[in-house]
Amino acid sequence: MESWWRGILDSLVMGMVIPGLMLCVGIKWNDANPNPDMLLQPTEETVEEAAPQTMRLLSPDGNPEEMDMETYVTSVLLGEVPGSFEMEALKAQAVVARTVACRAMSTGGKHGNGSVCTESSCCQAFLTAEEYLRKGGAEETVEKMTAAARQTAGQILTYEGLPIEATYFSCSGGRTEDAVAVWGTDLPYLRSVESPGEEDAAHYRDEQCFSGTVFLDKLGLQLTGDPAGWIGKTSYTAGGGVDTMQIGGVSFRGKDLRSRLGLRSTAFSIDVRNGEIVITTRGFGHRVGMSQYGAEAMALEGNHYQQILEHYYSGTILSQWEG
Ligand SMILES: [Zn+2]
Repeated sequence: MESWWRGILDSLVMGMVIPGLMLCVGIKWNDANPNPDMLLQPTEETVEEAAPQTMRLLSPDGNPEEMDMETYVTSVLLGEVPGSFEMEALKAQAVVARTVACRAMSTGGKHGNGSVCTESSCCQAFLTAEEYLRKGGAEETVEKMTAAARQTAGQILTYEGLPIEATYFSCSGGRTEDAVAVWGTDLPYLRSVESPGEEDAAHYRDEQCFSGTVFLDKLGLQLTGDPAGWIGKTSYTAGGGVDTMQIGGVSFRGKDLRSRLGLRSTAFSIDVRNGEIVITTRGFGHRVGMSQYGAEAMALEGNHYQQILEHYYSGTILSQWEG
């Protein structure tokens, strides 16, 4: 598997590296033994020279406010991931969180004005250090998250020169999903990949039970007889999610069933036990992009954050945001 740092090294040799990347970052490496840890680490000199970057935060009252980028990234980390996570997983999450803010500024984002809001269901979770500590969070965790933001300061993922659609989620259940299967848009860097080692995540595997009546009501169906006979042909996506499922002769999309039934993911199977409908889901979230628990598993295996990002967003480039 070719890695990013190797690609960057090759580009440097060929004189094709993005000019701003060298200008702003001060890349250091050992030619004989390139170490991913040594790439894209700002030197003390460049940190002092770099102007603080800002992002646009949509406040709860609906007004966008300029905010220091790394303070924002720290707050996303505090809201999105446990303090127990490995530093390399946190650094991967920091790059992704920053990329989301930069993409919004580049494209207008979901809110059309370049801002990101503080809702995890819309943009990204957000918890200031003050709020985190007030809720009983540990000072050490704030320091750890701050370090993850600072150690990746300004770094984002790009594809064809633009910040990528850096989607992420909690747990895949073993394999991520193609973007096209969930949103209908194929993005070359958001394709299904293996995501091993997530078994300890809270929602790796879940069961939800429905009575036949509730199940039919949620789907708007009127059926009778043994529920075991209601479930028909099922097709699956590249990531192991339900693409379509016939229920009572009606074809449903997997993502519609997830929404109607309130399932944790589209990767599910349906059984009938003692007259009850039992749905077993794998993973939690849309399963497109980086799995947070998969990133943690990779970090525990000794992978660097660059390797984690390369795995989940294949073909993208770790770049320096220049606003
Ligand atoms: Zn939003």
